[in-house]
This record gives sequence, C-alpha cells and structure tokens, in this order.
Amino acid sequence: MHCPFCRHADSRVIDSRTSDDGASIRRRRQCPECNRRFTTIETASLSVVKRSGVTEPFSREKIVNGVRKACQGRPVDEDDLALLAQRVEETIRASGSAELDAYEVGLAILGPLRDLDEVAYLRFASVYQSFDSLEDFESAITSLRVERDERRAALEADAVRDRSSATPTG
Ligand SMILES: [Zn+2]
Repeated sequence: MHCPFCRHADSRVIDSRTSDDGASIRRRRQCPECNRRFTTIETASLSVVKRSGVTEPFSREKIVNGVRKACQGRPVDEDDLALLAQRVEETIRASGSAELDAYEVGLAILGPLRDLDEVAYLRFASVYQSFDSLEDFESAITSLRVERDERRAALEADAVRDRSSATPTG
C-alpha cells in the first residue's frame, strides 16, 4: 500500500479492527518514510449481475436509491433506509455467494422492507414482482395479514409466558 502523502511504496500496519457489522476491516497504517499515518478500509467484494449481463459492485447506496421511491410519503427516514440497506447486505453476505443477480438482491430487500413499512413494501413488490392484476395485490396483502396475525399471536404467547413466569410460586 503506497503512502498517500509521499508515495513511499511500503507502510506498516499499527492497528486493525473489524467494523461492527463485520463487513470491513479498518487498518491504521504508518509510513516508515515520512511517518505520517493513514487509514485503509478493506472489504470483501460482492458483485451484482444486472439483467443486461453487466456486473457491478454491490452498493448500499443503490439499495437505498432503489427503495426510496417506494417509501415516498411514508414515515421512513434516511436512518431507516440506511439500516435497511445494512440488513440487505448482511443477508446477501450470509448467503455465502460473492456474485448474485439483481433478482436475488430484490428478494433480499423484500423482508426488511416489509418490516419497515407495509405500504412501501407493497409498492416495491408490485414493481419488482411485476404485479399485473388486482389479484396479485390481493394475495400479497393476504400474506401480509397472515404474517401480521402470526407475529401478534407470537407476541401474545410471549406475554402469557412472561406473566406466568412472573407469578410467585410456593
Ligand atoms: Zn509517507
């Protein structure tokens, strides 16, 4: 790694740490020539093959831009979008493949987006999965309802368990 200040061909690593999400490593380096310090960030490359066949590096920014339109007018802020993009990247990295197609990226977006905002999810899914009839929307809404009921039932079961475990015995 060249020193960015004096272009010396070598540098010494003085500290390395993994980012919180585990997706990158920051290294603090020092130039043995001019003694100045600089930081490098190392990430494993993840590429996306577009429908046109063109390969491009995965970027969280592209995820955010892709879902922003679906979130228009919804109570979703930039932090929510950044977190969503992080979850998408984690899902993709967990899948273990270094190259995936745009369709799989879209799939990885659906889950976190549904958790974030159901209306934005429906908008995004309708474009991504090319809904072309009312029935497509109907079945998407039905499965949202089923999942919501299941989640509520699970929460209630937890609450009952908490209550019973809180009951003093003896
Ligand atoms: Zn230097």
